[in-house]
Amino acid sequence: MNIKKATFLLLFSTLLFSGIAQENKHDKILETFHSISSNEILRFAEELSSDKYKGRLSGSPEYLDAAKWCANKFEEWGVQPANNGSYFQYFPNEYSEVFSIGKLTYSPQKNKTINYSFPDDYLPGSNSASGTVTCEMVYVGYGISAPELNYDDYQNVNVEGKIIILESGTPYTKNDTTLQKWTPYAYHRYKFRNAVKHGAAGMIYVSKIANPNTVNLDGFIYAHVSNEVAVQIFADAGKDFKETRQSLKNMEIPSFALNPQQKITITAKTKYFPDAKSCNVVGLIEGTDPVLKDEVIIIGGHLDGQGKMGETVFPGALDNASGVSDILAAAKAFATSEIKPKRSILFILLGGEECGLYGSKFYAEYPLFPIEKTAMMINLDMVGNGTSFYVSGGKSYPKLFSHFNTANDKYIHRTMDASKTRKNYGRPRSDASNFENAGIKTFSFYTHNSVYPVYYHHPMDKTNVLTPEIMEDAAKLLYLSILGVADDEGL
Ligand SMILES: [Zn+2]
Repeated sequence: MNIKKATFLLLFSTLLFSGIAQENKHDKILETFHSISSNEILRFAEELSSDKYKGRLSGSPEYLDAAKWCANKFEEWGVQPANNGSYFQYFPNEYSEVFSIGKLTYSPQKNKTINYSFPDDYLPGSNSASGTVTCEMVYVGYGISAPELNYDDYQNVNVEGKIIILESGTPYTKNDTTLQKWTPYAYHRYKFRNAVKHGAAGMIYVSKIANPNTVNLDGFIYAHVSNEVAVQIFADAGKDFKETRQSLKNMEIPSFALNPQQKITITAKTKYFPDAKSCNVVGLIEGTDPVLKDEVIIIGGHLDGQGKMGETVFPGALDNASGVSDILAAAKAFATSEIKPKRSILFILLGGEECGLYGSKFYAEYPLFPIEKTAMMINLDMVGNGTSFYVSGGKSYPKLFSHFNTANDKYIHRTMDASKTRKNYGRPRSDASNFENAGIKTFSFYTHNSVYPVYYHHPMDKTNVLTPEIMEDAAKLLYLSILGVADDEGL
């Protein structure tokens, strides 16, 4: 054999073997890809939405049980603990337990009472104090006092010892820099404190939503009511609720005292836990490349929900057992596959989202990996009902997003819409914003074009509103595209 021939043969066999190795790798990736099943993902969601976790209220013992269940899964599959040998990253998380659905009674005049019904007409306040309060009412619009903006919803009314009727939001809603001035007044907590400062005895909030993102104030009792309840109470005072709301939006400050004979009674039974702790669940797949493994990709989504009210559990199936179940499926895929990513992958199941984005805020403050070594973050919230995908932030980071397009075009074939990261001048409303604001390239991933009705923060948010096929596809997309990002040496 001459030298030329030998060199040729050597080259040929090297190419052949690396070709076989490549093909092998590809086959193994596809094997893992196909092991992701809607059936298993649905079982994760059913577990997390089950009554035993009582709606996964962040800080509650049942939330911590759900966190443990997820950590056990990580351990079972070989996902490593990511916080110095622990799967948990703890942070302070005060919360209130709502022991009873309470009561809301309205009396338009003497000798006439209307008992409102739970959960159609009202929901007890997630952070209400315990007790009963009966009072006349005063409408205070947004309940904002902003002297520097020449605005005060309380300027023409006296709420001392009265129950106020309050709306969420601010008079300015357009997402530009002007909104920033109003942002501090958009927080429910601000509105509650301002109400107490003005001497209000209690509150009905015209925004019927189970909402732990409020604050417990000593003796301050409140409930959330539907628009229909507000319409009725206003009509009895000779006012049109819709018109009043319109003039509120026009910054006309329509605050007024209702008729003195109109009385409302709120009863609440809660217990406040000021020193509670909650946690993020953190699991790691270490990268294989000696250099790139120091870089991390974060896959996250919130594990907590709205808890329960009396015996009524808010299962939080779509929001966000769905996202967590997709993440678990992807974690299992990475952990059990023979093919490991070059960069490291951190799975983070966030706590305290519903209470005010506590878990993501804490991670941004105390990251487990340096921010500058974090290649990207993808946050999954409500990824479980619909026929198509949405990736907010996808268009801001085309290089990262190309891996999502490739995976989707080749193997999944769902409609996938994307947008640029929208700089939000209002108050941060999702965990994704805390990562993005910390300087991490962040995608917000969710499903849309709902197949089933969406019950947001509602006892009907059960697993029967989930579309298991799209959850399987979401987990598959997550697996393939994140593997693509993790192995991309040109990032
Ligand atoms: Zn959510």
